[in-house]
Amino acid sequence: MKLLTPVKIGGLELRNRVVMPAMHLGYCRDGFVTPRLVEFYRARAKGGVGLIIVGGCSIDEHSFGTMIKLDDDKYIPGLAKLTGAVHEEGGRIAAQLFHPGRYAYSFLAGIQPVAPSAVASRITGQKPREMTVTEIKNTVENFARAADRAKKAGFDAVEIIASAGYLVSQFLSPVTNLREDEYGGDFERRMKFGLEVAARVRDAVGPEYPVLFRVSGNEFVAGGNTLREAAAFCARLEDAGVDAFNVTGGWHESVIPQITMAVPRGAYTYLARGIREAVRVPVVACNRINDPLLAEEILQNGNADLNGMARAMIADPDLVSKAAGGRFNEIRKCIGCNQGCLDAVFTMQPVGCLVNPEAGREYEGEIRPAAQVKKVLVVGGGPAGMEAARVAAGRGHDVTLWEKNDRLGGQLVRAAVPPGRKEFAAFVEYLVSEMARLGVKVELGRNADEHDILDFGADAVIVATGAVPAELPVAGADGPNVAQAWDILDGRASSGRRVVVVGGGAVGCETAAYLARKGTIDAETLYFLAVNGAEDWERLRELATKGAKEVTLVEMRKSVGADIGMTSRWIILQELRRYGVRVITGARVNAINGRGVLVEHDGEEKLIEADTVLMAVGSRPVSELCERIKEKLPEVYMAGDAVAPRNALDAVRQGYLAGAVL
Ligand code: SF4
Repeated sequence: MKLLTPVKIGGLELRNRVVMPAMHLGYCRDGFVTPRLVEFYRARAKGGVGLIIVGGCSIDEHSFGTMIKLDDDKYIPGLAKLTGAVHEEGGRIAAQLFHPGRYAYSFLAGIQPVAPSAVASRITGQKPREMTVTEIKNTVENFARAADRAKKAGFDAVEIIASAGYLVSQFLSPVTNLREDEYGGDFERRMKFGLEVAARVRDAVGPEYPVLFRVSGNEFVAGGNTLREAAAFCARLEDAGVDAFNVTGGWHESVIPQITMAVPRGAYTYLARGIREAVRVPVVACNRINDPLLAEEILQNGNADLNGMARAMIADPDLVSKAAGGRFNEIRKCIGCNQGCLDAVFTMQPVGCLVNPEAGREYEGEIRPAAQVKKVLVVGGGPAGMEAARVAAGRGHDVTLWEKNDRLGGQLVRAAVPPGRKEFAAFVEYLVSEMARLGVKVELGRNADEHDILDFGADAVIVATGAVPAELPVAGADGPNVAQAWDILDGRASSGRRVVVVGGGAVGCETAAYLARKGTIDAETLYFLAVNGAEDWERLRELATKGAKEVTLVEMRKSVGADIGMTSRWIILQELRRYGVRVITGARVNAINGRGVLVEHDGEEKLIEADTVLMAVGSRPVSELCERIKEKLPEVYMAGDAVAPRNALDAVRQGYLAGAVL
């Protein structure tokens, strides 16, 4: 594979073309490197990645404690431990130099954010203070000083972040740079800050030391820079001595999703290609590249020279070594859910991973083989049960899994049904494949009762029997026009033209959006009509967004989607609007009848007419089995929704722990 061949960035040779781009992890303490951070990256280096970029690393006081800091020499010894660990494993490591500008949170940094102009941030809602020319020049120097410290700490390269809406990109963009002095106005003057940073960093580190820039190929912000300006900026940076470009998509405030699972794999590779056509140095493609075979295709198509795979490396630190060994089925692919990583970043929690419960816990040591092989029975083949079976079998136990349905996956199968959510199914495929490889004996359609389990003679039983939909105690809830949202997603029920979904949590929102899209044209048809010029863009958009059903979502609370992570919620709300779902909040359901749903809203009772009413009012655990067997067997554990309904991240983690404790 070309992906696994060496490549040079400046004078630095990388063992392959896989880059792990910088991601905030939240593992530092007061800016100092911790064993948690060191062991996290050591594992990725050991797994074969070519270049690790860490950060963002703060260059001045606009930072907070869980970031990696490079604004003082006192951080160098700790950083040297980090670079040393990566080097011991044969890897290379770069530091990303970071200034948030108007994206900083004053409550974290303790000072007002600064920016080229006083344009309020759509992320924080805060208004920054306009930088003086003296402050601008000091900030350029701070970038240079931080680069020098990085070099002293043993980093093999530095990267300057000029993407995602952070300070350098704020200077470049006409949306956020309203200055009329030497640092603002026309494009030439808006480039000046970034070019000065590049030049001073180059002076600080010397001519041979690799310097990368991370750029947005398109800001995807109204009135902002597009690929044309990005390419022109990169060409000027190359002249200033930049050795490679790491190309991502838009800004954090863009309303076009950048990295959730709704983004097709490798969708923004065309941006890397656009930059590559403008420069002669290597270009890294990024965003939703979670598979080495896709990464290889990107290289073979000439769209990039390297691939950035950040979350893919969180999900599977051994991705490169598995690819090198031809063990593609064993790769645990990132599914773009953000539940363990970016949602954690935005709530100031340390990063974990839905599909890899060990991520961020490498410092706790590797999971041990079982001291004594046990006969283990797992009851329930949802995410918690499958993960428990995988881990237990991987440790050498003799594992059998019983699932009452005729398929594995539980809630993940349902979650994968709405368009743009199919990556959940990829995780199911991985678990199924791993269980088979590790010798788990799976029996489908096995509806176990207490006697079956006792007769089986297991040394240990893991009960992962999941949950069932909760019921709403209102008149008419058992009527013929009422079904569970789960039944729609399972394909066990159908719906009429007018649908009311009761319950605006994740399941209700997803089901409403799913049904509202029914009758729109699919991606293949859209592509066919577009490339043949059959319809104009406006009509195509209408065909792709106007479905055949009238869908209403009713929620008792003031907002919908409250249980969806921050990085995905806005996208689902956007989908509800886009596909014309009528959302009614603050409405209490009083009854359901043959004509629809009677709700109390704004102090009045109203009828929302419906042919079908779908219930999505939560779930309740199925735990009775555990209660019946726990006194009769030596080792009984519970995991997942059987304990209490929870999200997939927690369910998988519980399954992992159950498999690890045996
Ligand atoms: Fe990928 Fe989800 Fe893991 Fe984040 S939590 S790395 S998005 S699988």
